[in-house]
Amino acid sequence: KKKALIIGAGIAGIATAIRLAVKGHNVEVFEANTYPGGKLSEFEKDGFRFDAGPSLLTMPQYIDELFTLAGKQPSDYFNYQKLDVVCNYFFENGSRIKAYADEGKFATEVSRATGESEKAIKKYAENSRKIYNITNHVFLERSLHQLKTYLNWNAIKSIFSLPQIDAMRTMHKANTSFFNDERMVQFFDRYATYNGSNPYAAPATLNVIPHIEQYFGAYFPDGGMYSIVSSLVKLAESLGVSFHYNSPVDEAVLDRQKVKGIKVKGELHKADTVVSNMDVWFTYHKLLKDHPKLHPQKILRQERSSSALIFYWGVSKQFPDLDLHNIFFSSDYKAEFDHVWQQKDIYDDPTVYVNISSKYKPDDAPMGCENWFVMINVPANTGQDWDKLIADARKNIIVKLSKSLDEDISQLIISETILDPRGIEHKTSSYQGSIYGTSSNSQFAAFLRHSNKSSKIDGLYFCGGSVHPGGGIPLCLLSAKIVSDWVT
Ligand code: FAD
Repeated sequence: KKKALIIGAGIAGIATAIRLAVKGHNVEVFEANTYPGGKLSEFEKDGFRFDAGPSLLTMPQYIDELFTLAGKQPSDYFNYQKLDVVCNYFFENGSRIKAYADEGKFATEVSRATGESEKAIKKYAENSRKIYNITNHVFLERSLHQLKTYLNWNAIKSIFSLPQIDAMRTMHKANTSFFNDERMVQFFDRYATYNGSNPYAAPATLNVIPHIEQYFGAYFPDGGMYSIVSSLVKLAESLGVSFHYNSPVDEAVLDRQKVKGIKVKGELHKADTVVSNMDVWFTYHKLLKDHPKLHPQKILRQERSSSALIFYWGVSKQFPDLDLHNIFFSSDYKAEFDHVWQQKDIYDDPTVYVNISSKYKPDDAPMGCENWFVMINVPANTGQDWDKLIADARKNIIVKLSKSLDEDISQLIISETILDPRGIEHKTSSYQGSIYGTSSNSQFAAFLRHSNKSSKIDGLYFCGGSVHPGGGIPLCLLSAKIVSDWVT
């Protein structure tokens, strides 16, 4: 049996382990933390349970596929329900929009709240769908670094249609051409943050994201987000994959330009294949630090995606107006993104995302309470005075939520944990604490992401949010598919 070693038990590392085990490899996973999941983790405090990282599940079919591939029934391991209301939006002027999953219902709601015509919404959805149909074969489901990607009919069609994917103007510019009402522009601009980018810089191709959310739907796993990890680890173990926790990999050992194995706690573990699920920046700068000539310098210098500041609050009251996902928009979106991307600090009126899993999973909070995951987008960590930024942001967020909900929130917070870019970097070895690898703030970003296979080191592969096709659970799962198809 060929031996494959995986560095990191993030979602992509676990998925790669499953796929390689199914292919007949002998697979071991080495994880620095004492638990699997990386950014997708959970914790409990003061009677509340929190999913620490991702809160929105899209494209669960890529999770199901792993069970099916292993000859198992997905629902024996992992169950989820589709959301009727994807997200609740609150605007500073007091207006509200419920983003219904049903396209018709959503169009009616938007037209009621903003006066935009249902036709405009439909036209927008068609554009988003068109971009998806052109891009998914080339940009998402395959490597951009293998000739065979470009040699099938779907890909050829996609390449000839590339001018239609709207890459030459920004998302924001495109969105203003579809809508008159600023709230709808803001609504659709927000999708840039799904991969940590800036709608005022990112290409309008990213307007594909609303299609993914609308068409494939948004879901809540019955056991909370962390059940994605626990069910996949269970599947991997049933296939014979062994997981070593508390085992940071220190070095990738090479024999000239071929990977020979990895070093963990001074011990060499030999392998035919090594897959790094570790952030690609740290893979080179830590594990391959003695081989600077093999570093892809240009790729490693790319701009990182944004990071996040999260307050996990146990709240001593229930709010019927709130749903699982809630957005409280900034009154000046442009200023907010300028602060994140130019000043590299935090705007006084940030857009606040509140996720409450206890709405769907009541045992996540004590009776009469709710578990609030309160997140804002912040710049990657380049040495800012985070303690000061966090104290100011906390005050501003409390004022904003208290005003919108007509209730003094500060009195209701009975438990608090804070995660900032430094913590994200520390907990998961993500360079600068960025949560989606590199940013997509240029039309070339998709082509500049690191490949899933090293072009200089034989036997070394990469999966996860910092490489192709990008961050977020579905794309991480696709990276695992690309890697396992590539490994012989
Ligand atoms: P990571 O989760 O980055 O894990 C990498 C693993 O490698 C870690 O466990 C780390 O400890 C380990 N490691 C690193 N170095 C070593 C070493 N030397 N030796 C051994 N192990 C090592 N995505 C969504 O789809 N929906 C969302 O709603 C969403 N929201 C998010 C909110 C937050 C706050 C964050 C942080 C992320 C969010 N994401 C979301 C993004 C998503 O979490 C990530 O894209 C995805 O989980 C990354 O998975 P990964 O496989 O790249 O690995």
